[in-house]
Amino acid sequence: MESKNILVTGASRGIGRAVAVRFAQGGYHVFLNCRSSVDELQKVQKEIEEGCPGSCEIVCADVGNPKDVAFMYEQIYRSCGCLEVLVNNAGISHIGLLMDMEDETWRRVIDTNLSSVFYCCRGAIPPMISRQFGKIINISSMWGTSGASCEAAYSASKAGVNGLTKALSKELAQSNIQVNAIACGVIDTEMNKQLTAEERKALEEEIPAGRYGTVEEIAQVVWDVAHAPGYLTGQIIGVDGGYL
Ligand code: NAP
Repeated sequence: MESKNILVTGASRGIGRAVAVRFAQGGYHVFLNCRSSVDELQKVQKEIEEGCPGSCEIVCADVGNPKDVAFMYEQIYRSCGCLEVLVNNAGISHIGLLMDMEDETWRRVIDTNLSSVFYCCRGAIPPMISRQFGKIINISSMWGTSGASCEAAYSASKAGVNGLTKALSKELAQSNIQVNAIACGVIDTEMNKQLTAEERKALEEEIPAGRYGTVEEIAQVVWDVAHAPGYLTGQIIGVDGGYL
């Protein structure tokens, strides 16, 4: 039987890595993307090849750059006809006062976190429509709903992802393509490594679950949403330990 195909952007570490491994454990052929951490991505490739029933290949690209994304899809469609699942996970954060933010920083956060979702969806959708099947899952954040102080660009980018998710789900529902977002709370990855031990403890005390989420928990939710009935679409699913 032919294996199913998934593209995971930002798969070299953190949530993307866990999602890639979860789907390879489930037998998928995984297209592993990142922009520059190629060594880390090769370790994920090795882990999948040595320990999972699924398979994988590396497709490096800056997903915030439309030319890079077009080239990435040329590679993908040389290898398979259609993605069954697209997980838009690549993202960066920026912490600082809005009034201190340079134009270039604003653009980089919006390009990486939001425009990338547009570019990657645009590449994935045409064969999904031909096949009348597809699952698009966007990794968003609870800050896209509530806004985080000193993270205006990041919060705006994730609010944009939520709006794009809802709009695109309506556009694609009749083609049997479901579009949902996972609004993560605080997850234990490098993105939060800048916090001191005291700051981490204070943050954990604010979270009703009393701890950070794990990448494996998010990967499991992504798997579940990808295999949920087709009536689940257009949702922003909070996975935040009860924070919001
Ligand atoms: P992470 O550990 O920093 O990993 C980010 C991944 O994205 C890396 O693989 C990185 O690879 C890739 N990436 C960054 N810019 C890219 C670009 N332009 N093109 C392609 N790949 C790119 O972050 P994470 O915590 O796992 O976050 C993953 C997603 O979850 C992000 O969208 C983030 O906003 C969201 N999220 C995280 C949390 C959290 O608490 N951790 C909470 C809510 C939402 P390179 O190093 O090669 O760039």
